[in-house]
Amino acid sequence: MKTIAILGSTGSIGTNSLKVIRALGKKYRIVGLAAGRNTTLLAQQAAEFTPEWIYAEDREGMRLKTIPPQCRLLGDYAELCDAVCSANVDVVLCAIVGTAGLRPVLTAIEAGKRIALASKEILVMAGNLVTAAARRSKAMLLPVDSEHCAIFQCIDGKSHDDIRRIILTCSGGPFHDRKEFDLSTVTLEQTLHHPTWNMGRKITIDSATLMNKGLEMIEAQWLFSQPASRIEVVIHPQSIIHSMVEFQDGSILAQMGYPDMCLPIHYCLTYPQRLPGTAVNMDFTQALTMTFEPPDIERFPALRIAKQVMNCGGAAGSIFNAANEVAVQAFIESRITFDRIPVIVEETLDRLGTLPAATLDDILHADTFARETARHLLGRA
Ligand code: NDP
Repeated sequence: MKTIAILGSTGSIGTNSLKVIRALGKKYRIVGLAAGRNTTLLAQQAAEFTPEWIYAEDREGMRLKTIPPQCRLLGDYAELCDAVCSANVDVVLCAIVGTAGLRPVLTAIEAGKRIALASKEILVMAGNLVTAAARRSKAMLLPVDSEHCAIFQCIDGKSHDDIRRIILTCSGGPFHDRKEFDLSTVTLEQTLHHPTWNMGRKITIDSATLMNKGLEMIEAQWLFSQPASRIEVVIHPQSIIHSMVEFQDGSILAQMGYPDMCLPIHYCLTYPQRLPGTAVNMDFTQALTMTFEPPDIERFPALRIAKQVMNCGGAAGSIFNAANEVAVQAFIESRITFDRIPVIVEETLDRLGTLPAATLDDILHADTFARETARHLLGRA
């Protein structure tokens, strides 16, 4: 029996994770669920999976809901950090959007728990602390992000020294091959129309700006201990190959499958086994074309900015992430146009320069500072 806590259970990854667990059957048990404000769905999930505890950021809203009698509603964030460390949790799957998952994940890593990590912000902000803590406690970090899960599978059992290049594939989002779109006039609705992946709102917008791929480059740098010069991005609109690794001998391994987040989630939950799951078999009786092309850095500067962040180190990842969150929110609220998102991020990085990231406080300070600076820049726009 494997016991699992899911943080961010009401979101896109969270609900897919529960779908995977439903299909896996009785050997996988949910012991804890955490969410933000969707208390109706959290209550439904609690009724179905009867966890030992649940956490809702909207605690007052949650109190009004009916939950199973044996299920404890955690009092606060500190209790959540304790709960993920308890002896009866084997795996913590974190899929909280933004930074709220950072502390519970860090404490779970320190307690030596296996972590299935979807929340890329955590590695982008605190990759140094997270990876150092995992080395100390020997906690296993399994990436849920499909690209990183693919890379993990390609290098599993091999030495990191054998890697020559990591090649992250990128769908390109809704605008990459649509040169007729003027990025200063695209709407939120057009931006949310992702060609291959069905995801939460924030990550869908990040996919359209390619900020998501920038975040993933930084994530890969931490997960696979590679320098920026060895991490590349290729546009692959079909999203069949989820990423590739080139080894020193010139051989390239790729992992593929239809774009469906259930596949990497299933891999992380069942690792190191390969159990039957919900993935649809690839149909090679039908013609299948896969194409690859370089990204357009002029039109989508996010990748160039991310490379700078990787070379800069310190708290640059926190600043990049925080400024992007502020800019994306401003775009959602129609306060800036789509093309201003990377501009705000780059200007914030330029203003703040290099900040330390030696401690969690340093990182949270850089996060706060970046949000204030980005808001100031928005106010000026
Ligand atoms: P969603 O917006 O769909 O879901 C976010 C989840 O986080 C919800 O359950 C939300 O709860 C919860 N949440 C937000 N704030 C808090 C908080 N303060 N405390 C507890 N829970 C909170 O996002 P996605 O599922 O798309 O993405 C989640 C993470 O996974 C992101 O970091 C994303 O980058 C990453 N990821 C997502 C992929 C995808 O395909 N969606 C692919 C790879 C990575 P509620 O809804 O109840 O408010």
